[in-house]
Amino acid sequence: MSKVNPVEDAFLHYTDELLVLMPDMPDVYLEKRKDAGDDGRHYAYCVVEGSEIIIAYAPDMPDLPVPQINGLILHEIGHAIEFAYSRDHVEMLLDVRLSDDPEERADQIVEYVFGETIQYELPDYIQCVGVDCEGGARPEGLR
Ligand SMILES: [Zn+2]
Repeated sequence: MSKVNPVEDAFLHYTDELLVLMPDMPDVYLEKRKDAGDDGRHYAYCVVEGSEIIIAYAPDMPDLPVPQINGLILHEIGHAIEFAYSRDHVEMLLDVRLSDDPEERADQIVEYVFGETIQYELPDYIQCVGVDCEGGARPEGLR
């Protein structure tokens, strides 16, 4: 018997949607890794290892509220899309100019591809999507 993991749930939901929106997007893999967390606002990262695009998430990420899990996963998928296609190609595909800040770019890509606005929920500025977020725009310089 396996317990439902809300991080896997969110990942499967949005990568399924992505496959419809961008059918030639390469596979993205989800992995639980201790080094993805820092007991602060970081719960996940996206990295290219060899030919694989991996989204790593912290062991305590499944304990977060679902709107934050969704926001975190979408933000990382934004990075994954840029890693898969390169910034120039994403700009061409979407016919937009993207920010020079890679963190802002990840959120912009999500906005254009999924139509979801990523907010930064107080007090820790964790990514969040949906009407239940109590947040706002990404603070300048946030890492
Ligand atoms: Zn990021």
